Parts: sequence; structure tokens; C-alpha cells
Amino acid sequence: MRIIILGPPGTGKGTQAKKLSRYLNLKIISSGDIIREEVKNNTEFGVMAKFYMDKGEFVPDEDITEVIINYIKKYDKGYILDGYPRNINQVNGIEVDKVIHIKSSKENILTRLKGRLRLRKRSDDKIEIIEKRFGIYEKETKPLLEYYKDKLIEINGDQSIEGVFSEIIRKLK
Ligand code: AMP
Repeated sequence: MRIIILGPPGTGKGTQAKKLSRYLNLKIISSGDIIREEVKNNTEFGVMAKFYMDKGEFVPDEDITEVIINYIKKYDKGYILDGYPRNINQVNGIEVDKVIHIKSSKENILTRLKGRLRLRKRSDDKIEIIEKRFGIYEKETKPLLEYYKDKLIEINGDQSIEGVFSEIIRKLK
């Protein structure tokens, strides 16, 4: 099965992707994790991507697409895409069976992200960057919900991690 997980930043997409990947035995392709790994390894792509990531902006479509398509080619049995596609320019060539949309209120998202802010795990966890990323999500990523409406599974993200996960499993069947 080929799955896309969509939702605003701070809805726990990464956490759910990990749980789902264990449950369904599927590989996760997380564009954010791939970028952070490249940044850590100081590759040419990583240096370029960090410039955008730290500002809360998207890495240029053609660069991230090239990287992700290479991963997708390796996982022909299925995958969970987390963080990709992120706008309508990135949908080409992506085969998908189900699109999981984790919904949450802006208030809850900002509360969660501000909590993460205190842990300072990521270089893009800064308040003004968080708000910018949220705005870009609304403008760029949300239109994908309409694009994928025939494959869409709506999930209430304002519940416990286990609650979100069991709703996903129930609705995937
Ligand atoms: P994430 O961990 O998914 O929130 O991604 C962190 C950052 O990586 C984003 O704010 C973007 O700068 C960059 N990024 C991740 N996925 C994409 C994508 N599909 N297209 C463009 N930039 C991306």
C-alpha cells in the first residue's frame, strides 16, 4: 500500500508514520528527516536545503523532488510518505492508494509546537518560523486535500497518540 500522511506542522505526522510503518510493515519516506540527515552530513544538497529550512520555507521543488523520487523507486512494495508532496507541483509521478489527513485546530497545533520549542530539537523550531510554516501550509499544502479528495481519510488529530492511531487503522480498512 502507498500512503501519504498530510496535515499541518505539529500534528504528530511523524509519530503516526512510525507507528503505521511498524503495523503495516511499510517503509517511511520522510522528506524532513531526509533533509535533516543531508544537513547533518553537510552534503551539497544539505547546505542548500538548510538555507530554506531555517527560514521556514520550502526547499525548491525540483531539488526535493529529485531526492524523493529516487527513494520511491526503491520501495515498489509500498511506502508511507511523510512531508511529501507538499504542494501541487510535487504530485507528479507519485502513486498513492490512500491519503491520511490529520486535522487539528490552529490553537492546538501552536500549543504543541510551542512545547516542542522548549525542547529545541530542531533548528526551525522558533516561534516566528513556526507561524510562517503554518501559513505556508495553509496556502501551499492544503490544496492537496482537494486534489486527493477521492483517496482522503480524515482523522481527528486532537486526541491522544493512541486515539489518532486507532482511528487511522479503523479507517484504512
Ligand atoms: P518537516 O520535518 O516535514 O516539517 O520538514 C522540515 C522542513 O524541510 C520544511 O519546513 C521545509 O523547509 C523542508 N521540506 C520538507 N519536505 C519538503 C517538501 N516536500 N518540499 C519542500 N521543502 C520541504
